[in-house]
Amino acid sequence: MSFADLGLSNELLQAVETAGYTEPTPIQAQTIPPVLMMKDIIGIAQTGTGKTAAFVLPMIDILGHGRRRALMPRSLILEPTRELAAQVAENFEKYGKNHDLKMALLIGGVQMGDQLKALSAGVDVLIATPGRLMDLFERGKIMLTGCELLVIDEADRMLDMGFIPDIETICSKLPANRQTLLFSATMPPVIKKLADRFLTNPKYIEVARPASNNTSIVQHKVAVPSRKKREVLRELLKTDNVTTAIIFANRKTTVRELAKSLKSYGFSAGEIHGDMDQASRNAELERFKAGEISILCASDVAARGLDVKGVSHVFNFDTPWHPDDYVHRIGRTGRGGATGRAFTFVAPEDAEAIANVEKLTGGPIPIYQLGSSEDVDVHEDKAVREEKPAREEKPKRAPRGKRPAQAETEAPEPRAAAEKREDRPARAPRRETRSEEPKREVRAETPAPAPSAPARGPARGGRRRDAEPVTRDDGSWNGPVPNFLHVSAL
Ligand code: ADP
Ligand code: MG
Repeated sequence: MSFADLGLSNELLQAVETAGYTEPTPIQAQTIPPVLMMKDIIGIAQTGTGKTAAFVLPMIDILGHGRRRALMPRSLILEPTRELAAQVAENFEKYGKNHDLKMALLIGGVQMGDQLKALSAGVDVLIATPGRLMDLFERGKIMLTGCELLVIDEADRMLDMGFIPDIETICSKLPANRQTLLFSATMPPVIKKLADRFLTNPKYIEVARPASNNTSIVQHKVAVPSRKKREVLRELLKTDNVTTAIIFANRKTTVRELAKSLKSYGFSAGEIHGDMDQASRNAELERFKAGEISILCASDVAARGLDVKGVSHVFNFDTPWHPDDYVHRIGRTGRGGATGRAFTFVAPEDAEAIANVEKLTGGPIPIYQLGSSEDVDVHEDKAVREEKPAREEKPKRAPRGKRPAQAETEAPEPRAAAEKREDRPARAPRRETRSEEPKREVRAETPAPAPSAPARGPARGGRRRDAEPVTRDDGSWNGPVPNFLHVSAL
């Protein structure tokens, strides 16, 4: 299957070729023709499968005909976060260069002046986050009655971020006979309901996770007491052929402190999280993308869906509280056929979180055995180690009879707190949550020699993004099957 088979115009095919895509991804191959036929679409495919071009490409051809009108965008793309919105805009620029299309980006955190000017001159494509759009709409600065094509992208993330009511309102302002495309990595019931209500006879396209994806990310969990996390991280950064890495932490404070600490150890690290203003976030992303820094410490805020190619490693400095975040975090590596490596630090208090992750991904994540004891002195914190007898972390999950010595597990962060850990763009108040450092320690077992864990793939930046999941255990994610490595506990 080639792009030429999909019914796209020659100008567009040229732009696609220039951009370097040779073959459509499965979601693109299945979505583009019906979109060109003006059908409503529900497109379900995991992160990194090319959903953006699946709607951007046909939209460019559809919008290539017709005229702009002042204040009335001809199409609207809703994105959950500013970064994703900006990324979609970049796609329009890249693929629409042979077309006369005007677009405007309406996102929080940036000056509205130019956007308003663009809007009043008339745009073909309006790319917006729901909050900012609602704002503007309520102030009468925009009319959606001329909007004949609506894209709801990253619908599951919209749900996580509490945007569904806004989306419903927005949908009701658009003409009823519009074309609507909805994309999501998963299809939780709320999204299904939204689709039932606002899409007309949609074509449902679901692309299974390609088999190769299962092997393109080598996943490990590393049993490590919280106090040892930084040390273990530094060790892995030095020894695992890390070229570029994104390090995710659950809290903004942790992100900040971690970046600082890494820098003090001479690592080329930056940070991105919800407490930074948009300009600083962008600047940091750009530095990462440009290779000026090779390590990006990130909160979930800036991360989801962002596309930075070639990240060799993802580290979950904290096991994510919401299993879905795990999938999105590790999706920053192993993209586009390159093999990536994902390490998840599991402290005693993460037992429940990791169990949830493994439930979602469909199996145990192999335990990574840390290197020699010279590499990481696990015995340093004797005082703390005493605490409790280690509780084994689901022994049945530990391959080869080795198990992580897990200490007493604490209850995971209460959900309410977890939900506040990041700011919600555009509206929600931002809150700082407590900084990391747990109170318990894990008793270390003697570290065994590291199994071979060849590192792979070059890396490149990633990003992170906002907002907190609200919920959603729809079980619809048929997660990656981890590649096995080894077991051991710190
Ligand atoms: P999703 O929205 O499904 O998470 P994206 O649209 O962000 O995925 O695309 C993920 C990555 O794949 C991007 O780097 C994009 O440039 C790349 N990509 C998309 N389509 C193709 C293609 N047909 N060939 C090669 N790379 C592609
Ligand atoms: Mg996307």
